[in-house]
Amino acid sequence: MKIELRSDTFTLPTAGMRDAMFSAPLGDDVFGEDPTVNALQEKVAGMFGMEDALFCPSGTMSNQIAISVHVSKGQEVICDELSHIYLYEGGGIMANAGASVKLLKGDLGRLTKAQIQASISPDDIHACESALVSLENTVNKGGGSIYETSDLQEISDFCRSTNIPLHLDGARLFNALVVTGQQPVQFGNWFDSISICLSKGLGSPVGSVLVGNKAFIKKARRVRKRLGGGWRQAGLLAAAGIYALDHQVERLAEDHARAQAIGQICAQLPWVAQVLPVKTNIVIIQLSGHVTSAEYVPKLVQKGILCAPFGPQYIRFVTHLNVGDDDLIEFEKLIKQI
Ligand SMILES: *Cc1c(COP(=O)(O)O)cnc(C)c1O
Repeated sequence: MKIELRSDTFTLPTAGMRDAMFSAPLGDDVFGEDPTVNALQEKVAGMFGMEDALFCPSGTMSNQIAISVHVSKGQEVICDELSHIYLYEGGGIMANAGASVKLLKGDLGRLTKAQIQASISPDDIHACESALVSLENTVNKGGGSIYETSDLQEISDFCRSTNIPLHLDGARLFNALVVTGQQPVQFGNWFDSISICLSKGLGSPVGSVLVGNKAFIKKARRVRKRLGGGWRQAGLLAAAGIYALDHQVERLAEDHARAQAIGQICAQLPWVAQVLPVKTNIVIIQLSGHVTSAEYVPKLVQKGILCAPFGPQYIRFVTHLNVGDDDLIEFEKLIKQI
């Protein structure tokens, strides 16, 4: 038996989702004529109280499109050093937007208004112009950490007053919403653009949605085409996204409870130095002394616990749709044998 804790991207479509996919009305989305894609885009734009939305193949593409629309060549993106847009998108900030990046060191990947304010480049011809602030919520590399409402409000107010657009990498935003009770419309008010992933904990096989105002999405559609992301009968996939939003959001709370349990089990192991605070569905452990993830991940995998190395001394476990209570019992039994 294998317990799949490497990522919430391993989730498989449920029976109800498969039915929804195969019965979806389809058309050519490059012509704007796939009714199911249009329904998904309207649904997500409506949830966030934003004007328009664009269905994209991946969260990376959504983020990269947003950056390319907001930022011009030679300008800079301000973000935390743990950001997915910086660490895990193949250098796309530079390669796609021709932009530089100013990295800040936040608290588990979360920035404050004061930090952002202090980092804005002066109005000076020597400086790299600050053109975008990008936040991530939840923060993947921060162990699924969540922003406080007050911090988001302050950062948003500041960016508005300085006329710098604010983007959210909300790949796991719904995990944060389920914990905090914050509403999507609040995020629509705070941010100029938001990307969400349908294929993480929400359980769709493929897809991300980018939201923003009409002018932004019009430009985004052009960039998506340029990147090769203009797709045809994508309603097959959009139907999975609609199904996920209708049926698989509330259940994220179960993933969070199981992540808490995994965190508590790990905290008792002699070879674990610390467990980062568990807030959502991600558990990051730091190994003790000279123990390395290169040595321990294979040991865990050999026992049937699939997990991901997350730095020389860190390991990540992610709970999701296809991890149940029986897996948890097995996890505890197996990991104590190491
Ligand atoms: C997974 C992820 C993405 C990118 O999503 P893909 O669909 O894998 O390209 C972006 N940001 C964060 C924080 C993620 O965890």
